[in-house]
Amino acid sequence: TIQGVGKKTAERICVELKDKVGGLQDTGFTPAAVPERLAGGAGAVADALSALVNLGYPEALARQAMRLIELARSERQLRQEHEEREVLLVHLEHRNRELAALAGDLRVRADTDKLSRLGNRSAFDARLDEDLALTRDHQSPLSLLLMDLDRFKPCNDQFGHQVGDRVIRTFADILRSVSRPTDFIARYGGDEFAIILPLADSRAAIDVARRVLTAVKRADFAPCDTCTSVGVASLETPRREDEDAEALLRQADEALYAAKAAGRGRIGVSTGGAAGEISVIDPASDD
Ligand code: GH3
Ligand code: MG
Repeated sequence: TIQGVGKKTAERICVELKDKVGGLQDTGFTPAAVPERLAGGAGAVADALSALVNLGYPEALARQAMRLIELARSERQLRQEHEEREVLLVHLEHRNRELAALAGDLRVRADTDKLSRLGNRSAFDARLDEDLALTRDHQSPLSLLLMDLDRFKPCNDQFGHQVGDRVIRTFADILRSVSRPTDFIARYGGDEFAIILPLADSRAAIDVARRVLTAVKRADFAPCDTCTSVGVASLETPRREDEDAEALLRQADEALYAAKAAGRGRIGVSTGGAAGEISVIDPASDD
């Protein structure tokens, strides 16, 4: 209702207005229906206004009618824009979910070694730093196993790379089967592998190394005669400040080298002392 005018008068004004502003069809008048036809701009509004005045309506009343029509038009436009934004928002949310999934997928791919489906070297480096910091904060132990396949080069040379690749995949399965979900297994490079064992002291880490060697013994690497050597290094509690990733890797590497030098298929254990003492376990001699 136009302010100060009865409903009937308002309807009559609007019907007359409709006729004057461009041959509108009768859509069952509401002020909101008129602005569509007034979309021609300020010229059409001015024409409509003078039409109303010419019809004999006081100019103030005519202006009031026009103002109502303008408001209705603005409201309609705003509602339309709001609806468009809602649709856009739904699209954006959908696209965001797609991008987040894609980013997760890319992250996994960037961190994974394609052949073994284990973590790769850069994922290993990042994880070791994280786990070292976590276990240092909680003053818990952490161990590292480094493994290198024994006599793997002759396996490749004699039977080809595809056979060698199969050995790598089978070995990766073995490492997965002996590990806990909180451990992190990586292909460190070539025929070298590593497992980070958070919360495991030296004794627990040696148990895992033994399980690896037992599973390798049972595994079918045929036609290759491949085994693995293992180096174990552990950070016991209380932890020292100088025990960083580099020191731990160096100790595990020296232990691995000692296991190789002692005849392969063995476990070298770094005692972590400043003198770098290493003991070598031969699981075959336990049998
Ligand atoms: P050792 O007992 O001292 O460890 O000797 P090794 O014969 O295992 O020789 P070494 O560890 O020095 O050489 C690693 C070999 O691993 C060399 C290469 O032929 C093989 N290798 C490295 N990456 C791949 C790979 O992605 N696929 C295959 N099939 N072989 C690989
Ligand atoms: Mg090797």
